[in-house]
Amino acid sequence: MHDAAGDYAHIRDRLDRPGTSRLSQDLKFGTVSVRTVWRTVVRALGDDRSRHAFENQLLWRESAHSILWERPDVLRRPFRADFAGFPYREDEASYEAWVSGHTGYPVVDAAQRQLLSEGFVHNRARMIAASFLTKHLLIHYQKGEAHYLKYLVDGDWAQNNLGWQWSAGSGCDAQPYFRVFNPVTQGERFDPSGDYVRRWVPELERLPTPAIHAPWKAKESLLEAHGVRLGRDYPKPIVEHGFGRERFLQIAQSYLGKRR
Ligand SMILES: Cc1cc2nc3c(=O)[nH]c(=O)nc-3n(C[C@H](O)[C@H](O)[C@H](O)COP(=O)(O)OP(=O)(O)OC[C@H]3O[C@@H](n4cnc5c(N)ncnc54)[C@H](O)[C@@H]3O)c2cc1C
Repeated sequence: MHDAAGDYAHIRDRLDRPGTSRLSQDLKFGTVSVRTVWRTVVRALGDDRSRHAFENQLLWRESAHSILWERPDVLRRPFRADFAGFPYREDEASYEAWVSGHTGYPVVDAAQRQLLSEGFVHNRARMIAASFLTKHLLIHYQKGEAHYLKYLVDGDWAQNNLGWQWSAGSGCDAQPYFRVFNPVTQGERFDPSGDYVRRWVPELERLPTPAIHAPWKAKESLLEAHGVRLGRDYPKPIVEHGFGRERFLQIAQSYLGKRR
């Protein structure tokens, strides 16, 4: 137990390594109780950094259930009142590209394909994919929330809603709305070997690691040598990162600014 859990604080965010407990579906359905998990971890790890990191995640879970208990309306509207009526876009083609894992951003596509294939997505990848949908594509978090709830084996009203509203910036104790994840640097940082992308986006599996999170920046000759024709085997990005980020920030600043 100590060996597996002792590294939790260091590798829990790594997409390319099995560094988390994978207990979410058992906790969701009660096949193991949260008290049993808590006690086992305390006994195994003592006063270890990983113990505290793991407890914090269990506390996020408790906090999600407590928010839903106090504010059941969060399932219908944003926790933060100033986000009500936020001008999200209707863009079915982009939404479908996100759902099926064809946005052209490898780490986002890996997350989305892992969801459809396994019914599970690593927490970091959930955050990256949710940020991309709500900020780069400016599509309503409720569409992503419903899609995740449909496919996740740990799908839970409280935790899923907390995760989506946290990512969109509209939740209780959410990440600030102006923080927009860059899907390329997130991929490079949390999937440094590129193996998470290789596993779920096989079109790119032969690409060398420095090119795997932003294939459109690689030379055509390098892509060709590794069997990738952008726009045919794998899409070009459906939205440019800088453009998507600025569009979101301008709309959010003007909408939220007027409502404060
Ligand atoms: C957009 C989005 C949607 C999410 N939807 C769900 C969902 O429907 N069901 C669900 O159980 N979790 C959800 N989460 C939280 C988290 O992603 C998963 O609990 C975690 O990935 C499960 O893997 P694990 O059991 O290996 O986690 P570990 O890292 O081993 O964590 C241990 C336990 O703590 C709880 N936990 C961990 N992280 C969180 C978190 N950020 N918020 C709340 N509880 C947490 C889970 O019960 C988890 O099993 C969501 C997060 C985001 C960003």
